[in-house]
Amino acid sequence: MALMVLGTLPAWLTLTATVTAVVVTMALIAATAVLSFRLARSRREQNERETTLTKFSSAVMNSGAMILITDSQGRIEFVNDRFCQLTAFSRDEVLGHSVATLSATVNLAGTETGVLTNFLDCLQPHWKGELLCRTNGSTPLWTAVTTSSVLDDDGEPVNYIVSAVDITELKLAHERMEQLALFDSLTNLANRRLFQDRLEQALQSVARRQTQIALLFLDLDQFKQVNDSLGHDAGDMLLLTVADRLKSCVRAQDTVARLGGDEFTILLHDVSDTKDLTMIAENMLASLKAPIRLKGQEVLISTSIGITTAPADGETPDTLMKNADLALYRAKDKGRDQYDFYTESLNDRAEQLMTLERELRHGLRREEFFLLFQPQVDLNTGDITAMEALIRWQHPERGEILPDEFIPVAEDTGLIMPLGNWVLQQACMQIKLLHQLLGRGVRVAVNISARQFRDPGLENVIDFALRTSGLEPRFLEIDIHEGMLSDEPEVARDQLARIRRTGVTITIDDFGTGFSSLRQLRSLPVDMLKIGQTFVKEIPQDGPNTDIATTIIGIAQQMEKQVVAEGVETEQQEYFLRMHGCSLVQGYRYAPPMSFDELYRYFSDDSERELKA
Ligand code: C2E
Ligand code: MG
Repeated sequence: MALMVLGTLPAWLTLTATVTAVVVTMALIAATAVLSFRLARSRREQNERETTLTKFSSAVMNSGAMILITDSQGRIEFVNDRFCQLTAFSRDEVLGHSVATLSATVNLAGTETGVLTNFLDCLQPHWKGELLCRTNGSTPLWTAVTTSSVLDDDGEPVNYIVSAVDITELKLAHERMEQLALFDSLTNLANRRLFQDRLEQALQSVARRQTQIALLFLDLDQFKQVNDSLGHDAGDMLLLTVADRLKSCVRAQDTVARLGGDEFTILLHDVSDTKDLTMIAENMLASLKAPIRLKGQEVLISTSIGITTAPADGETPDTLMKNADLALYRAKDKGRDQYDFYTESLNDRAEQLMTLERELRHGLRREEFFLLFQPQVDLNTGDITAMEALIRWQHPERGEILPDEFIPVAEDTGLIMPLGNWVLQQACMQIKLLHQLLGRGVRVAVNISARQFRDPGLENVIDFALRTSGLEPRFLEIDIHEGMLSDEPEVARDQLARIRRTGVTITIDDFGTGFSSLRQLRSLPVDMLKIGQTFVKEIPQDGPNTDIATTIIGIAQQMEKQVVAEGVETEQQEYFLRMHGCSLVQGYRYAPPMSFDELYRYFSDDSERELKA
């Protein structure tokens, strides 16, 4: 048909018509092709969409994350299998209900901020965070949640899609790590780090809110002894009991911490006045005083407490810790079961101690120390059986200083080592000289401090003093304070055995104030027990200390060890001791501590006196 038309039309028109016809034909063909292609494509796309939808819904259904879809109000329209698995809720139990019903009801006070417990709060167009989710069991589920939304044409959310991953394990591990880092593993109390943090925060709030806080420093007077004599598990039990009792003495907002060993600190908020604090401290002492049953035994412990307040006493954690520590030491000085408050004068005391230390060093170099000797008498015979060497310090400005003031400082600073060696050396030399002057022998007792006793070389020091002075070992007595023996009984026994090998006599000084058990005592290589002044002082009044004196005499007799009473001042005391079978005595009643010259005169003047070794 086209060719026919061509034959009747002008050439250009024919050409144009031909081109047009071709173009139209081609357009028609193309249109048909496009149409059929589009039809095919929409079918394919639909298929693809269906496949994709199937894939997506299968992915959502089987996802490792729990997926939950709600309407705009938070009513649950869909949950996947993982949701049912993790929460133990069936679909029927949750579909149609608000997500609010999935909110965990645990109290999260004190956990990190940014954690939500109300499920509705995470229904936001874009939200990411951690959420504690209720389950159909007893333990809630920690989840990491991502929320997105489906918007309508107006941009309003019609659905929320919540995808959540189970992070309970991670959370628990994190909590465990935090627990380890901030809490004491034995007692579960705050540890030093957490306590420091809380103290810092409390000090900041003191400045902001103009309140008062208090820091209490507390330690047990005989923890080490219990630990060593009854074992570490008993020690642990003791600490647990103490932790419980302390917690029961404070309010929930206060912090009780264990810094290590038997050291506890307590932070009290909003303290109104000193009366308040006094009451709390007295409460604590009373509650810790009650007997504790450990391994079938009733153990009594006593405690010392140092107290400081902020802002009055200081405004930094370091200052407060130092203050409370100083107050604790003063409380300890007062005896057992005591508390004391920090005062300015305690700081002065700390400075005094530093000065004392400096002067002690000078004193040692300038030989400002000397010895006095106090006789020990046998009541049955009137003989002097020994003499105790007692150190004195002739201070250039302060005059004579007694050992109770400087021995503890020498102990703390290590100066006791050269000082103790000097005493041993001098005592041996002077007594050897006395022997030579009198032509007969008498024993000298030398006090050994805790640090000297811990020195594994003590045996050699003693041996050296004996050899260089020429004093026979039987004329030297080593006085060891009972408290030093209970620290590490095994080590103490070995040390005593080594000292004994030098041939000297060993005495337990101040017996009855330490914690050695009878069993332990029986196995120790010692020759004598000394009844401390505190017990002798109570004689002849009735009371627990008289009982102790008689008990010690009884123990010594039973173990066939000699017993010496110290600090005897009165006739009644002498009578009581004699009646109970203790005939060895030392005290002002017989003679005060004397210088070497006085001692020599004492012996020479009384030529009747027989000297016994
Ligand atoms: P201690 O071993 O119990 O010594 C007995 C103390 O009681 C001495 O005090 C003595 O002067 C005093 N005393 C003696 N008789 C009486 C009395 O009838 N009544 C009273 N109230 N007290 C009496 P001192 O000399 O002040 O010694 C005190 C403590 O210092 C000694 O107690 C001893 O533990 C220690 N000490 C003394 N000299 C040394 C030493 O050279 N080295 C070491 N490590 N410690 C020493
Ligand atoms: Mg002594």
